[in-house]
Amino acid sequence: MTFIPYGRQHIDKQDIQIVIDVLQSDYLTQGPLVPKFEEKLKSFCQTKYAYVVCNATAALHLACLVLNVGKNDIVWTTPNTFVASANCALYCGAKIDFVDICPKTYNMSVEALENKLIKAAKNKKLPKVVIPVDFAGQSCNMRKIKELSDQYGFKIIEDASHAIGGKYLDQPIGNCQYSDITVFSFHPVKIITTGEGGALLTNHAHLAKKITLLRTHGVTRDVELIQNTNEGAWYYEQIDLGYNYRITDIQCALGISQLEKLANFVMKRHRIADRYHKLLQSFPIITPYQSNDSYSSFHLYPIQLHNSKNRRHVFNHLRQKNIGVNVHYIPVYLQPYYKKMGFKNNYCEEAEKYYSNAMSLPIYPDLTEEQQNFIVSTLTEII
Ligand SMILES: *Cc1c(COP(=O)(O)O)cnc(C)c1O
Repeated sequence: MTFIPYGRQHIDKQDIQIVIDVLQSDYLTQGPLVPKFEEKLKSFCQTKYAYVVCNATAALHLACLVLNVGKNDIVWTTPNTFVASANCALYCGAKIDFVDICPKTYNMSVEALENKLIKAAKNKKLPKVVIPVDFAGQSCNMRKIKELSDQYGFKIIEDASHAIGGKYLDQPIGNCQYSDITVFSFHPVKIITTGEGGALLTNHAHLAKKITLLRTHGVTRDVELIQNTNEGAWYYEQIDLGYNYRITDIQCALGISQLEKLANFVMKRHRIADRYHKLLQSFPIITPYQSNDSYSSFHLYPIQLHNSKNRRHVFNHLRQKNIGVNVHYIPVYLQPYYKKMGFKNNYCEEAEKYYSNAMSLPIYPDLTEEQQNFIVSTLTEII
């Protein structure tokens, strides 16, 4: 068997042709395909504003910036995520803290969040922003998180890097009904890809304006924003300190083509997930729980083994057989960089318990039944 990765892109002839077409056109970047991809994302997610950028890490950074996260602020996220969900707060000079996960969904626990908020309110250390992450593609309990945000006055950045194409309460993830800003990633292991890429979605006009400004250097030609309106057509002004977080037309062409296939990708991921669920039922494995509120995009298929000594053994065995299992995630605060900030082991017990037994099985649209059977038989042989 050739190597089976834990996730990979699906690229077809249409994707290739559309990228070739851009290479032969006038604009490689900042041409017509950037706004076109944004229009398609908006209508797919039913959101007022969508902006595409060079990756989701940049999107998270911009999201924090436009919500005015700064030096004296506190941001909370989940430990069960990629480091980027926490790093974005540190880029802004803010403090970061972590809310433990729900042992069933592996998403941020709303009970733990509420308890932490009650304590933080007493100590006057409430967060300015909370960043829930839709782990593996399954939505967080966003309705409850939104309720708490109204009560305690924090803003919500939903890190939906795993979750484009998923639904929450029958609405597309990314429609921002329960968040100020939602972020997607278009990295090749995610649901759709632009090579590198990300997006921010929002329903707030004032945030939208700031996002467009900060993704290109804080420079604008908008007559409503500039001071000297009497200069010529060449004229622009820098009115804030922004970045070059732009994405190219080459990438957006691929994004547009991929978006057309998104529903099909997610359907295939569900088919694979359902099959894993059935095939693994009688084994000592915890398969991922699916909440009734949510239709997951199944970016990942995270299982738990019953003891952590076993995990290393099973992991190594599968890797030896060319099966690219992975582990999502090492709790972020256990990273040496975070430990230096003072985070200690056992800070979030549920996240650590989950981590110690977790393993992600390969899932992606082109995974064949034959490959899946091989993964399941190799796994069940050894446990
Ligand atoms: C992949 C990922 C990111 C970062 O995405 P990039 O597009 O690679 O910058 C952020 N958060 C989560 C949860 C992710 O999985």
